[in-house]
Amino acid sequence: MSDGAFYSGLQSKLETLRSDGLFKPERVIASRQGAEVVSQDGRTLINMCANNYLGLSGDEQTSQAAAAALEKYGYGLSSVRFICGTQTVHKELEQKLSEFLGTEDTILYAAAFDANGGVFEPLFDENDAIISDALNHASIIDGVRLCKAARYRYANNDMADLEKQLIAATEAGKRHKIIVTDGVFSMDGTIAQLDKIVELAEKYGALTMIDESHASGFMGKTGRGTHEHCGVMGRIDIITGTLGKALGGAMGGFTSGRKEVIETLRQKSRPYLFSNTLAPMIAGASLAVLDRISKSTELRDRLHENTAYFRKEIERIGFTIKPGTHPVVPVMLFEAPIAQKFAARMFELGVLLSGFFYPVVPMGQARVRVQLSAAHTREQLDTVLKAFEQAGKELGILKNN
Ligand SMILES: *Cc1c(COP(=O)(O)O)cnc(C)c1O
Repeated sequence: MSDGAFYSGLQSKLETLRSDGLFKPERVIASRQGAEVVSQDGRTLINMCANNYLGLSGDEQTSQAAAAALEKYGYGLSSVRFICGTQTVHKELEQKLSEFLGTEDTILYAAAFDANGGVFEPLFDENDAIISDALNHASIIDGVRLCKAARYRYANNDMADLEKQLIAATEAGKRHKIIVTDGVFSMDGTIAQLDKIVELAEKYGALTMIDESHASGFMGKTGRGTHEHCGVMGRIDIITGTLGKALGGAMGGFTSGRKEVIETLRQKSRPYLFSNTLAPMIAGASLAVLDRISKSTELRDRLHENTAYFRKEIERIGFTIKPGTHPVVPVMLFEAPIAQKFAARMFELGVLLSGFFYPVVPMGQARVRVQLSAAHTREQLDTVLKAFEQAGKELGILKNN
């Protein structure tokens, strides 16, 4: 406590964040997560900014499954996996995830951030090349930094640039090459072109890895993910993902792939070796979620109906969106102050939304990001659309007016 300059330095950096409009406050919810939430001040809001794609986060069946696992396996383990922190429920969940994703084996982590942080360093070294999409998630970027492999970056979703980087890595004589991409990019809802990526990987003898955090549970006909959506199930080498979004929404991550990859990670992956895995009640609830969505595509189908309806109606009202089919719908407002004013007005009108502007998205591409859920009713979506129309008129940003 004797270095006063350290603390005053932090204070002035925080003040700069505030005055630049880049400070991120927490919005405190006093209820369960869901299509409607109660904010700390007692107001009910329609929630359009959760990654609660299947509506399972605040869902009663999910809570009951967690309670049953809590009762059976207790609260926690006070150990990492390989000492005495593995229960049958963890092994069952790993097996179930492998079946669901169409892989040989799966290793659990406390978070997808850890899965991505711990996947590269045990598998690749300075003789190898990691070829990464420029918009990949922060946890992939950090994971790659922890590994000695050469780094190649290709422009987001740009297959010509990916091929250029593959050629460069090949000409540099790299032993193993791995192409790494988010299955779906969360800012734009862009779906990676996995069919083309797999083709390029085969042409240049490269491995492939996808992060399915915004896809597992609802992309593809039966919700297996982007690999199912793109028709390349069984042709992706490594799949990482989260249990903290569509698949129940609590926390937890995984890495899935060939047996020898997962076995190597169990021996060498540092977030797995030196950190507890997910609590048994989360593992139990995740198992129940996978069971539920494997038996029926009802939630996934409702999510896609809601998405198609919202995308069509929001354009009809006169907003510009990024085209696509994913439940992430970027509603473009272009200028940062307008995005801020718009999100604030929507909050007053009872809609919870998040605004994004530079530096999170490129300059001049400010937006509010809507995320649809299977839990949204048609009535709630109509209420949200009305609020959009009203705020859009007030701020003079509708195309048709
Ligand atoms: C959310 C997210 C993560 C992190 O997931 P956690 O399980 O919360 O750590 C990793 N990758 C992508 C692409 C994500 O969207």
